[in-house]
Amino acid sequence: MEIKVTKTTSPKEKPKKGEKLGFGKIFTDHMFIMNYTEGKGWHDARIVPYQDISLAPSAMVFHYGQEMFEGMKAYRGVDGNIYLFRPDMNAKRANNSSRRLCIPEIPEEDFVEAVKAVVDIDRDWVPSEEGTSLYIRPFVIATDAFLGVAPSKTYLFMIILSPSGAYYESGLEPVAIWIEDEYVRAVRGGMGFTKTGGNYVASLAAQVKAHDSGYSQVLWLDGVERKYIEEVGAMNICFKINGKIVTPALNGSILPGITRDSIIKVCKDWGYEVEERKISVDELVAAAKDGSLEEVFGTGTAAVVSPVNKLRYEDDVMNIGDGKIGPLTQKLYDELTGIQWAKREDTRGWRVLVDKA
Ligand SMILES: *Cc1c(COP(=O)(O)O)cnc(C)c1O
Repeated sequence: MEIKVTKTTSPKEKPKKGEKLGFGKIFTDHMFIMNYTEGKGWHDARIVPYQDISLAPSAMVFHYGQEMFEGMKAYRGVDGNIYLFRPDMNAKRANNSSRRLCIPEIPEEDFVEAVKAVVDIDRDWVPSEEGTSLYIRPFVIATDAFLGVAPSKTYLFMIILSPSGAYYESGLEPVAIWIEDEYVRAVRGGMGFTKTGGNYVASLAAQVKAHDSGYSQVLWLDGVERKYIEEVGAMNICFKINGKIVTPALNGSILPGITRDSIIKVCKDWGYEVEERKISVDELVAAAKDGSLEEVFGTGTAAVVSPVNKLRYEDDVMNIGDGKIGPLTQKLYDELTGIQWAKREDTRGWRVLVDKA
């Protein structure tokens, strides 16, 4: 793929060392953009200064939500190099989402090349403080100026970059989770396995409810019986029950997390028995009550792992373990972040160098 590069003539001031970056608020100097036109395919790959885009008010993405996104990070390793983590998995998942959403696919190697190229141009924006990273947001939107309900014939693929602070400012911090019994996020046969805007709009009402009740995240139950555990807002969920690792199987309504996949592989390497299966909320409540629920943690790119110390389901409030971070949760966090920031040997070939052009 040929990428035309137009560099900014007025670079922005970068955040100062030690400045709080937060998440998703600061954007770098450049972005990647590429057009799709029916009959012509993807064309005009380019890197340009970060800027507003202009769309017709009738652009289809505004009305029927035909869009797909990904979420990944670039890490400044302790050796000074810039790395991605399993970017081929994001490229695959993007296409898996796109097929469901009637969005044209992007060749995996082009997706990864585009990510590397734009990260390389803005490599000085990758922060270096402990736990910080450059968040990468690739996305595709439907751009036809048309109010009919049909797949668009034109699209934009863009990649924007945002330096982000450490998810945990002072070590892993456990969260309290609300098991939602009224609203549902996705159903089998729907689009729960895709990263698309509609899934996140569907989650807002429950999130507000959970926050108002003092819980930071929502754990979803299945959309049909409201009986089986699915996942958290933007994380998959994993349990350690009686020494075994148990996580909901990918059934079509759950987002197939790359962190989830990595954690399953690491746990197997470490000799744990891992079960991907249906877990009913009743099984969970019973395991919490009889003490066999040893650890609970969410998994996702943002936090890597997020220990859970409290679960609420209807009238049951379950405290997990001693309220502190479980030893396996901590060990998994150390292993994955060790690979990402090049502090540990990468025996699985997951760390991908972003070469200097
Ligand atoms: C992105 C996301 C995840 C986690 O996926 P990772 O690839 O591990 O970051 C899990 N659930 C939902 C709903 C998500 O949007």
